[in-house]
Amino acid sequence: MTTMIGTKAGEDVVRGEVQCLNCGRTLGRASRRLADGKITIRPARAGEEIAVERQPGRSLRCKRCGGRAFLEFDTLTAPAE
Ligand SMILES: [Zn+2]
Repeated sequence: MTTMIGTKAGEDVVRGEVQCLNCGRTLGRASRRLADGKITIRPARAGEEIAVERQPGRSLRCKRCGGRAFLEFDTLTAPAE
């Protein structure tokens, strides 16, 4: 698990990963802006596709195996929800 806090253009961002519960792959990198809670998902490595599907109103899904994927952030620094 690689989580760290970064500052980008004066904004506090919590970093995390998208992982598949089924195959255990890291499907992408995620960042959540503390100011408005906006979550951005990027490929795990530059040039790779994002291996996760976002289904409106439903959970994330792994494109490789179809398993359920989840976002994991550094909860110590994430705002209360
Ligand atoms: Zn998977």
